Amino acid sequence: MEYFSSVYELKCNECGKRFGNRPLSGCPDCFAPLEIAYDLEQVRGKFTRESVAAGPHNIWRYAALLPIPEGFQPDLPVGFTPLLRARNLGKRVGATNLYIKNDAVCFPTLSFKDRVVSVALANAQKFGFETVGCSSTGNLANSVAAQAARLGIKACILIPADLEPAKILNTLVYNARLVRIDGNYDHVNRLCTLVADEYSYGFVNVNLRPYYAEGSKTVGYEIAEQLGWKLPDNIVCPMAGGSLIRKIRKAFNELITLGLVEDKPVRFFGAQATGCSPISQSVKQGWDYIEPQKPNTIARSLAIGNPADGPAASKMIQGTGGWAEDVSDVEIVSGIQELAETEGIFTETAGGVTTAVTARLIQQGRIGKDEVTVAVITGNGLKTTDALAGRFTHLDSRAVRPRLSDFAAYLEELDGATNQKPELEPAGAY
Ligand SMILES: *Cc1c(COP(=O)(O)O)cnc(C)c1O
Ligand SMILES: [Zn+2]
Repeated sequence: MEYFSSVYELKCNECGKRFGNRPLSGCPDCFAPLEIAYDLEQVRGKFTRESVAAGPHNIWRYAALLPIPEGFQPDLPVGFTPLLRARNLGKRVGATNLYIKNDAVCFPTLSFKDRVVSVALANAQKFGFETVGCSSTGNLANSVAAQAARLGIKACILIPADLEPAKILNTLVYNARLVRIDGNYDHVNRLCTLVADEYSYGFVNVNLRPYYAEGSKTVGYEIAEQLGWKLPDNIVCPMAGGSLIRKIRKAFNELITLGLVEDKPVRFFGAQATGCSPISQSVKQGWDYIEPQKPNTIARSLAIGNPADGPAASKMIQGTGGWAEDVSDVEIVSGIQELAETEGIFTETAGGVTTAVTARLIQQGRIGKDEVTVAVITGNGLKTTDALAGRFTHLDSRAVRPRLSDFAAYLEELDGATNQKPELEPAGAY
């Protein structure tokens, strides 16, 4: 249950103690989160623009900066999702250099969690776990179930009982063992810590968490490479546990240290739902801690009331001169709709949060109109269609007879209806 790497190992964020490579969720001495520390000098020659360009079109092109055990043969082509110039959305919200990083189409399960799971499971295999699992707000469950199936490892997944039906179905289809817990994510996560010890399961976001979290760095590497090895001015990123936003920063810093990009300040902006906003509250208050909240929002994938990396994320955001905002459930739905009708991207509730927060930050003037801003869209709208329930009366409209005259009459009817329909409020208008 331990292996050696000369390039990376576990290190405590607080006391600096090192632990080699083994399954461990936090520092046994001071209970602080653990981080993977790299000897970047050893990576220097192996991680260049050229070596990256020669790699496969997926996250494994960055393997030299991932905690991957020696001899690991990557199998799944995860990641390398599109970075799109969002001209239409930009026009709507008043920004000229807006980009969307679109992990709504991440392979294999349509969220950025595929990145973290593939790195975690590489380590789970090396550590010899026969069963892997996770506590999940939905997307992680889908990804662990799918990737465990492909690797032929058993999966046991714990979720809050009230998750979206699509996310439950998208876990069960892979034949994973799924346990609905009568409680919210924070209850589920606490239980998982006990289960991991008692049953020797490899929980990707508990005892494998430091390895898991490193997978998120690939979002940052991809953004920099896709911008032509340049860093943006601003990142807008949704936050649940607060891990992804921190790891994008870590990725940028590594690229600067290794000389792949020019050093420049990047401001980080966090996005949450008001119904679960412990990190955005912390940033707004200027705290270096978070006050846990009881989640109540349709953005279930972000509904973590006591985020593990919350304090660190809050400090990081404040340190870069960024900010955090949170939006209501109504604004989240408008955000989903707005991204879909301007850019043709259907995102889940978390993406609605990011879109609405981006609009607000531009409106507030916290993000400059001409600055290069990347909004990170992390999940797919097909998984949270219930958030849009009741919005489209068409779903149960009558069927039209297959005749040109009936079609024409129907169009007229529709046009009449559209003219009466109130305009959707742009997300920035709140
Ligand atoms: C998990 C998740 C996040 C947030 O990730 P953290 O690293 O926990 O902050 C954002 N968006 C979606 C869709 C997610 O599933
Ligand atoms: Zn410690």
